[in-house]
Amino acid sequence: MRSLPLLVLFLCSAGPLLAQDRPVAITGAALVDLDGGPALEDAVVVMQGGRFTAVGPATSTPIPQDAELVDATGMWLVPGLMNMHVHFGLKLPGAAGAALADETPAELALRMAANARASLHAGVTTVRQPGDEGHVDLALARSIERGEASGPRIFSAGEVVQVTGGHGSAVDQVANDGPYEFREAVRREIRAGATWIKIAISGGIATPGGDIAASFMTPDELEAVTDVAHRHGVKVTAHSGSPQATRDAVAAGVDAIEHGYFLTRAEFDLMRDRAVWYIPTIVVSQPATMPFFERIGSPPWYLDRVRAVGERHWAALESAIAAGVDIALGTDQLPHEENDGTVATVREAEYYVEAGMTDLQALRAATVEPARMLGIDTEAGSVEVGKLADLIAVAGDPSRDISALRQIRMVFKDGARVR
Ligand SMILES: [Zn+2]
Repeated sequence: MRSLPLLVLFLCSAGPLLAQDRPVAITGAALVDLDGGPALEDAVVVMQGGRFTAVGPATSTPIPQDAELVDATGMWLVPGLMNMHVHFGLKLPGAAGAALADETPAELALRMAANARASLHAGVTTVRQPGDEGHVDLALARSIERGEASGPRIFSAGEVVQVTGGHGSAVDQVANDGPYEFREAVRREIRAGATWIKIAISGGIATPGGDIAASFMTPDELEAVTDVAHRHGVKVTAHSGSPQATRDAVAAGVDAIEHGYFLTRAEFDLMRDRAVWYIPTIVVSQPATMPFFERIGSPPWYLDRVRAVGERHWAALESAIAAGVDIALGTDQLPHEENDGTVATVREAEYYVEAGMTDLQALRAATVEPARMLGIDTEAGSVEVGKLADLIAVAGDPSRDISALRQIRMVFKDGARVR
């Protein structure tokens, strides 16, 4: 049940289609060691056919004669960033969201494609989309895979599976009640191409009513979801702010928890013991994000909810890091959204350091850890021969100072330079 046929199919077709035939060789840069060792100075990284074909010191790594040379002297190389909580079709309450009220499915698709391209340019080469409207996320993933649209490689959940009256249900057409309906809903998303299932098990910031601490789903509903998804090799993640809902969901076998606004050390200890992932999305509740909410015209009730959640959310992040739970970076803002002088993805990683991670741990939470959560760590998430050639070049060593990610100079995906 842990074999993932969908992912294997996806990855087999992902690389070569976008790749160029001529090898590319990056020279002069230092390759950061994500296992904590010293960086490899004056490294050579060769990419061809969408994958790394040679990685090593300049003194002993041959460069193919026909290679296109890229001089990265003075830069540090790290794997492409991964952001595990992205809605390319994000619409939030307020003026900016209201302006999209009449958006057609075609307009939504084009807006999402533009956001995907901008995210890739910001250095984010892999994302997971935990819930978007109308299966446009799945169409976008396939379009990028075919080389039509430009963007990160996408792992996607289709539409959020949830109860009547649950978080975000005002914008969702379909709701489910009872285990039979949940089984059907999960199968519907998997049939449409979802490689994750997203359930909403508590209230959230973006829902005007509803208690964030509530636990909406009953044990039989939760177990129906995890059972059916796992039979297909598909993982389940849960939007949750609630300790009770989280305990219920972990007992039912979910694979990941998003946000965790009100979680305490007890829930994170439980998650660590059950190998359940945590995706903090800390940027959504912190004071530095207030100018963003004001920019998009968020209503007063929304700003109040953000303020009410911020401190609890921060304490949850600190508890999760102290507990040693597996953490994968996710923002719930667009990966490239301006935030506190940088982009949301980078700011999120900086917060992890402020909350107790080392710089190296935060860098791993944005690269190898998401790859492990997605089950693609043998294929992506590190700069090694044979792996997918997703890479960024930055003006400092982010394993020593995560804020070096503010200075991204080059972005490669599938061995091709996109910035
Ligand atoms: Zn979200």
